[in-house]
Amino acid sequence: MEKEYHILSLSGGKDSTALAFFMKENMPEIFEKLELVFSDTECDLPETYDYLNKIEVFLGKKITRIKPLYNFEQLFNIYGILPSAMKRWCTVEMKTKTFRQFLQDKIKSENKIFVYIGIRADESSRVNNSQDNEIIKQRYPFVEYNIIKEDVCTILENYGIGFPEYYKWRSRSGCYFCFFQKKIEWLNLKEYHPNLFKKALEFEEQGNIQRGKRFTWCQDISLKELIEKENYYREKHRIRNTKSKDLKYKKLVEGYTLTLNS
Ligand code: SF4
Repeated sequence: MEKEYHILSLSGGKDSTALAFFMKENMPEIFEKLELVFSDTECDLPETYDYLNKIEVFLGKKITRIKPLYNFEQLFNIYGILPSAMKRWCTVEMKTKTFRQFLQDKIKSENKIFVYIGIRADESSRVNNSQDNEIIKQRYPFVEYNIIKEDVCTILENYGIGFPEYYKWRSRSGCYFCFFQKKIEWLNLKEYHPNLFKKALEFEEQGNIQRGKRFTWCQDISLKELIEKENYYREKHRIRNTKSKDLKYKKLVEGYTLTLNS
């Protein structure tokens, strides 16, 4: 008999989490055999780890946590430079390779592998089945069932799990030093997790020495300079936030102060 394996990779964000809850309700026979996996960089936000623990309790299912072969500091030494949007080795080394290896190990014992992805119907242009083959198939239940952003919020609210706490001050999951963060999010990191901000600042300074030229996590300003201009950037964000058009979505995440996707 053909052996099937089903896997959902959780990011610690709202979409993949909502998908797990959606599958429990709407695809119970698959959910029963579904393995939930989290690629742990060990650099994720404390709120993400708390949220994952909460998900396990709410779903009554364990999350398998997989880790890269080398941790961030080791990889920094190997590459000799810090990751950036131009040299994004972090995702490859700390997420993609780890997940691929995990799947490779599964291929040895499974005939068919279904990978469930939380891409929503309103972002269906991101669907990509080019990696599918005889064994591995990607599935997009939110696209199949026409689930959009507002539905995802409703799913999380209805199940009582809500949003990850970092949504109060940051718009997406990921490493505390993620270079895709907005300036306001860096300043929020300093406020919510001063120790992590300090670590990121130390990395930035090490990055400068190691590279022999200026490295900044943000595109145009170092973290030190950012702190000096904190009031200016906070005010700028406040004005932009007031003008945000995404009011419907804001309402759905009521109680959360950051305007997501603004
Ligand atoms: S969250 Fe940011 S820093 Fe972390 S792996 Fe992804 S792109 Fe790299």
